[in-house]
Amino acid sequence: MAGVYIHIPFCRSFCSYCDFYSVTDCSETEALVEAIIREAELRSGYLYNETVDTVYLGGGTPSLLSVTQAEKILAAVRRNFIVVSDPEITMEVNPDDVRAGYISSLAALGVNRISVGVQSWDDGRLKYLGRRHTARQSAEALEAVFSEGIKNVSADLIYGMPEMTTADLKQDIEKTLTFPVTHISAYHLTIEEGTPLYRLKEKGKLTETDEETSSSMFMLLISLLREKGFLHYEISNFALEGYISKHNSAYWKQVPYIGLGPSAHSFDRRSRQWNVSDVKEYIRSVNEGKVSFEREELDRLTLFNEYIMTALRTVWGIDLAHVENSYDKELHDYLVNMSGKYIRYGLMKRERDTLALTDQGRMISDNIIAELLTEL
Ligand code: SF4
Repeated sequence: MAGVYIHIPFCRSFCSYCDFYSVTDCSETEALVEAIIREAELRSGYLYNETVDTVYLGGGTPSLLSVTQAEKILAAVRRNFIVVSDPEITMEVNPDDVRAGYISSLAALGVNRISVGVQSWDDGRLKYLGRRHTARQSAEALEAVFSEGIKNVSADLIYGMPEMTTADLKQDIEKTLTFPVTHISAYHLTIEEGTPLYRLKEKGKLTETDEETSSSMFMLLISLLREKGFLHYEISNFALEGYISKHNSAYWKQVPYIGLGPSAHSFDRRSRQWNVSDVKEYIRSVNEGKVSFEREELDRLTLFNEYIMTALRTVWGIDLAHVENSYDKELHDYLVNMSGKYIRYGLMKRERDTLALTDQGRMISDNIIAELLTEL
């Protein structure tokens, strides 16, 4: 199985924390849609004969697309790749883009999973994040999504903003759960270089949340969502039974995927490549019949390290049999030895042939993963 990711790099304005590639000049949306369709044609052989079972429209802001533009892109995906009859098709939407009839029209195109960028239920924190929408618009967007026929709905939340308390987070989670969402992605705010928040930090005008508060928030998130039946299947992702994101899980399991659009990444199990992060250059290159991209060949150790990085973030953990079969016995034994001390400290657990982080281990996952990476 394989996935298709489509990057729509337009935003009406920039959020203060975001370092994804996007531009606020949306005048080339139509030209971009045509270029994405052309790219799908040019690269129709990229996935060889792998069958596509997930399609993901992300960004940027894919909900800036008209229904006709989304339809053209999805038709191009179906024309140029081998797509199962009922793929998971996800679209990210910003709450202020949800207009009457938009979601039902997307559903008619086969979109069956919507991810709503709620981020916070507090207008002050939304403003701090530079979001254009209000809490009220998030509520209206979620109501519209459910009433217009989509049942598989994810809400994105951000926590760990300066001065945010665990009580604030509890309120955000409880408010989210007043809607029948089937999935929640909750990310701790990170201050990425080049963002407005980073510049504030440089000037000493931003104090990051201390580790103790961050840990309490993480544990609160896990316990509240578990109580409501959500499986904590990846560090930042929670799903009710049957609603794990197939598309994102495929990334973590090293399933191949093709990324269409500026800055989109692709992976074919041997190499990773990423399209140019420039709308004009992307459109120009595609129109000339060759996509502008960079490429990195992945050797065995890079693939192994990537597997450790992604697998340990998930509830499924590292499959030791997979390591022995796909890599070698030496790397298998290395992992068994290295994990010993973490198992003794209660940070990792071994069940049959899998190694996974415990809740305590997930709080310091970055440190553990960094130690397990190898140059063997
Ligand atoms: S967070 Fe989303 S809407 Fe905000 S700038 Fe980034 S891509 Fe655009």
